[in-house]
Amino acid sequence: MNKPRIVSFPIVVSGPSGVGKTTLCHGLLKMDTHLAFSISATTRPPRSNEIDGKDYFFVKPDEFERMKTEQQLAEWALVHGHYYGTPKKWLDEQLERGISILLDIDVQGGVQIMESYPESVSIFVVPPTFKVLEERLRKRGSETEDALRLRLENALSEMEFITSYDYVVVNDTVDEAVARMHGIVTAERLKQKRILEGITWRQLIGLDEREVKT
Ligand code: 5GP
Repeated sequence: MNKPRIVSFPIVVSGPSGVGKTTLCHGLLKMDTHLAFSISATTRPPRSNEIDGKDYFFVKPDEFERMKTEQQLAEWALVHGHYYGTPKKWLDEQLERGISILLDIDVQGGVQIMESYPESVSIFVVPPTFKVLEERLRKRGSETEDALRLRLENALSEMEFITSYDYVVVNDTVDEAVARMHGIVTAERLKQKRILEGITWRQLIGLDEREVKT
């Protein structure tokens, strides 16, 4: 029997800051070996637990500017006063190899990816309530009160973009939210249009044209 065909696509994961996108993406990566995580470049200073090259590529503003002008970024945006962008070369190489890529990016970047990669799948993560979001951001404790206020205000404007996304996942418990995301990715891989892209149904089931005719 032919092996099932694995098709690849970018998976945009957005939602208000603090909703838990990164945790969900890492949970999903553990369940699925045909997925990888896109490491963004950012001008934001690293938090104490963050590692350069693993969580982000931490770059100076002039380096980010250079990446932009040299068109090295698949998308970029100014988020909470810092620049963030997705390295394009690595993304395209992985997709070519059949690996789907999780992009934990803000709504402005999400829309840019949907435009340039129409095959992408988009998931909007929401908190069970706004109050829960506020509590989570406070617990993270990595922000000043002003920065926290800014993130909460931005969260409400980010919510407006929900209608541009294919799927909505409520992050009530991590395990359940990850399971829902896995269900989305699995179903998307089984779409007829993706499976039959570039091949015939005969090739899909291991029959070439000649065998059919005789
Ligand atoms: P944080 O500073 O908390 O790590 O991320 C802040 C926001 O920037 C989050 O909403 C995150 O999804 C978003 N973000 C991270 N990387 C990128 C990127 O490469 N592009 C865009 N547009 N947003 C990003």
